[in-house]
Amino acid sequence: MDLRFTPEEAAFRQEVRAFIRDNLPQDIRERLRLGYSARKEDIVAWQRILNRKGWACYSWPVEWGGTGWSPVQRMIFQEELLLNNAPELQGFNITMIGPVLIQFATEEQKRHFLPRAANLDDWWCQGFSEPGAGSDLAALKTAAVRDGDDYVVNGQKIWTSTAHNADWCFVLVRTDPHARKRQEGISFLLVDMKTPGITIRPIISIDGSHHLNEVFFDDVRVPVANRIYEENRGWDVAKFLLGNERTGIARLGKSKERLDYAKSLAREVQQHGRPLIEDQAFRAKVAQLEVDIKALELTQLRVVSAKKSKDGKPDPFSSILKIKGTELQQATTELVMDAGGPIGMVGWAKELAAMTNEPHDGPDWAAPLAGPYLFLRAASIYGGTNEIQKNILTKAVLGL
Ligand SMILES: Cc1cc2nc3c(=O)[nH]c(=O)nc-3n(C[C@H](O)[C@H](O)[C@H](O)COP(=O)(O)OP(=O)(O)OC[C@H]3O[C@@H](n4cnc5c(N)ncnc54)[C@H](O)[C@@H]3O)c2cc1C
Repeated sequence: MDLRFTPEEAAFRQEVRAFIRDNLPQDIRERLRLGYSARKEDIVAWQRILNRKGWACYSWPVEWGGTGWSPVQRMIFQEELLLNNAPELQGFNITMIGPVLIQFATEEQKRHFLPRAANLDDWWCQGFSEPGAGSDLAALKTAAVRDGDDYVVNGQKIWTSTAHNADWCFVLVRTDPHARKRQEGISFLLVDMKTPGITIRPIISIDGSHHLNEVFFDDVRVPVANRIYEENRGWDVAKFLLGNERTGIARLGKSKERLDYAKSLAREVQQHGRPLIEDQAFRAKVAQLEVDIKALELTQLRVVSAKKSKDGKPDPFSSILKIKGTELQQATTELVMDAGGPIGMVGWAKELAAMTNEPHDGPDWAAPLAGPYLFLRAASIYGGTNEIQKNILTKAVLGL
């Protein structure tokens, strides 16, 4: 197998890189370089720039605004966004609900929602997990009972990322509590977040950010016209969506970028009178991560270039990308923290001030070091936990 890029693919990479260089607003690039998360307005602004170029819904079929790129081109595009500190596309819109609508929605639903999703006129969120239903998603209890042309929805979702920013939520609900199998009584609804009866309660995560929420539904009326696919067949839609969710979750470009960033900080930081980059223990960590990144890159190329299976199911090898990719995101952000050392704590200036009267300053880059390090502890949980991915691998790949 030849895993080298063709001259056309190399030229494509240069084209994407040049576009990002010339069009990504400098303030957004700098915020992401320093390790801050992209804000809603950054993501909207950048996605609209990409949409004008025709690249926002790059993975969709051409008839719905897609690019017609090969899987390798898509991989290069995603990697270049991350390598160059551009915000990622809004995943709930582009990777999740867009392909679901294209596969399962009516023409009317497609014509209304798809262009708005591409241009981020609607910000989508994902209402799947519940307090008693995460890895075992089919245990979900949020109920939708038919009443005329509406469903009346009651229940609770949890860990709903960016629900507080969202215009719409795609929600899994139980429409037949008596189905023979739990999976057969679930439907997939599109819910306008402005509907009366929806309450959003923030969950502040360990990094101090507001990304997660609880969402409560109290007699929320959702038109039957907002159901996707058949009643009680929502599990088919969810399986299709979750297969797409894992695509690109390795975020290898980000790990490469963070490793380079850690090296650049280590040239600046002094330890025992010498730059940290000369420290043997630090260098050994860098070398190990470079080897691991290269190994995952080769695996990713193998997965991307493999033919899609005939039944359209996600390639079980993509579970390796999820496991190793998230481990690398955690390890590279940890290395960035290592480079910062104690000054990486300045993000907690307020908390530290309560304990000591020492000033807590540091260079510009110090304050945002800890946030991504802490938030990415969750990377091995979201998108299907790494333990569940290992179960998939043992069954589907190792045949155990
Ligand atoms: C940052 C973040 C963002 C998220 N965003 C969203 C979102 O936008 N929308 C949404 O719907 N959900 C979201 N989630 C929820 C996420 O999908 C769930 O947390 C995940 O599916 C795990 O479910 P759980 O938290 O209920 O843990 P559980 O399923 O209760 O698992 C607890 C532990 O047990 C392990 N475990 C469970 N079952 C098995 C098994 N069969 N074999 C081996 N080990 C097992 C798990 O790996 C885990 O370590 C998000 C989560 C996080 C952390």
